[in-house]
Amino acid sequence: MHTLKTLGSLTALVVLGSIMAMAAGQQVPRFTPEQEARLQIRGVKDGLYVIPGFDGGQSGGNVAVRVTDDGVIIVDNKFPYSFDFITEQVRKITDQPIKYVLNTHHHDDHSGSNADFLPTAEVIAHKNARANIVRNNQPGPPRVIFADETAVFLGGAEVQMFHFGRGHTNGDAVAYFPDLRTVHTGDLIVFGQRLDGSTLSPFWDFGNGGSVLEWPATLTGLLALDFDTVIPGHGPLLTKDDVRIFRGKMEIVIDRVRTEIAAGATRDDIGSRVDTADLDWPLAPSRFRDVFDELTGAQ
Ligand SMILES: [Zn+2]
Repeated sequence: MHTLKTLGSLTALVVLGSIMAMAAGQQVPRFTPEQEARLQIRGVKDGLYVIPGFDGGQSGGNVAVRVTDDGVIIVDNKFPYSFDFITEQVRKITDQPIKYVLNTHHHDDHSGSNADFLPTAEVIAHKNARANIVRNNQPGPPRVIFADETAVFLGGAEVQMFHFGRGHTNGDAVAYFPDLRTVHTGDLIVFGQRLDGSTLSPFWDFGNGGSVLEWPATLTGLLALDFDTVIPGHGPLLTKDDVRIFRGKMEIVIDRVRTEIAAGATRDDIGSRVDTADLDWPLAPSRFRDVFDELTGAQ
């Protein structure tokens, strides 16, 4: 896929990408000019950029780009067909090579192009994220893993990675840029609207070790860091207060399900008995069944 870089034209890239992705069974979305404009790399703070992502289906996750004089560190890498797009975006701001690729978790809208980066960069993830990649037969398992925390030092910059516990999955990592007081949370925090205008809400991926009950405590760990700027897994830049609000809403969801269980709710009717419209979190009935299962010990 590296040869595509010479084409230069995003249109040609999308068309060729579509052909290659179709061969691989992947559906590459087509974007309007307005959507393409929203997906272009932009500055966050001095030396830190984001390639925006608004959903798990079309634009993928947010990619953080830390630029130094000795190379580039990126956090997350969107879909299996996103290598050329990401490298082209990074080329707009620096000629430095991408040397480190950090995964916030294993989902392929965040770690999908690991395999394309591995020949030229070191890919690092939490040990459970790597195990999920291997178990789910996803390409590009990282060569380097960590348990509780690790850090990358490059060109005078430092990026720390922390695993604060279960939440979205059992392998969630937060990337922390201490000098810039900024975190990339992966899907422990998602916010706002997808490209199609629908509203994002959190997803507890029980199939990959996620936990709605442990998620708030995981965010408490995150909040102990000193930061003022948040790059969420999907959506616009947020503040530390937004993380507190997100944690509060998650606790409300858990409390409401717990209250209904105490009032006699069953697994079948829990989805119709809990309303979260006021939280602006559209949650399918199956999500409430998940919470029910975890609260009752079935999960
Ligand atoms: Zn995810």
